Amino acid sequence: MASDESIVTMDGPAGSGKTTVARRVAERLGYRFLDTGAMYRAATLAALDAGCADEPLDEEAVCRAVDAAGVSLDDRGTVTVGGREVEDRIRADEVTSRVSAVSALPGVRRRMTSLQLDFGRRARPGLVAEGRDMATVVFPRAEHRFYLDASVEVRAERRIGDLARRGLPAPERPAMVAEIDARDEKDSSREHAPLRAATGVEIVDTSDLSVDQVVDRIVARVAAAGGAAS
Ligand code: C5P
Repeated sequence: MASDESIVTMDGPAGSGKTTVARRVAERLGYRFLDTGAMYRAATLAALDAGCADEPLDEEAVCRAVDAAGVSLDDRGTVTVGGREVEDRIRADEVTSRVSAVSALPGVRRRMTSLQLDFGRRARPGLVAEGRDMATVVFPRAEHRFYLDASVEVRAERRIGDLARRGLPAPERPAMVAEIDARDEKDSSREHAPLRAATGVEIVDTSDLSVDQVVDRIVARVAAAGGAAS
């Protein structure tokens, strides 16, 4: 395992900016980067391809689909399905609308958590891991733990901008706010590993901050604690 001192966790709700921030923080520190949302999205894609992603979910069938498709991480931490990168497909609406239900299944969480821990063991010289349960469940002993948040309106605007940049269709703002609210509600009310700020994490409200400002603040905190040079 990368030592607890060299693990940075970044949890938060959809659109809080944590993927962009975590990737940039990892670059600045020279650490590995792990996008665990992409892993749950890949598990959902596997279930979709196997025709078992619609509710009510059959947990056994979904887990079989995840195993058969071979959801995995390559050496750089990129999620793969059957050895192939799936970045474009996992951002599609049909995945986004189903991922909260799939990720609530304990069998799916066990599989993803185990891959995450395995990646953490190999990550050198350190790891920036982002998701919903990095500080609460997967890396609870990480020394640098952050929870990024922002108002739902700001988060909706960011998602719309993200989708537009990727050339993907985006809903109107009220529909995006509703979609994010629904996903937050499902992610924070589920029984296993719900989204919440772990005790002692540093909460960063990114509503009025630029990406650079958030990255600078986090890198400075890690460097001040002796985690890595900035
Ligand atoms: O971060 P992103 O929006 O890509 O995450 C997609 C979904 O994956 C979340 O809405 C949540 O349901 C699930 N997820 C999770 N645990 C994580 C990361 C993501 O349950 N650690």
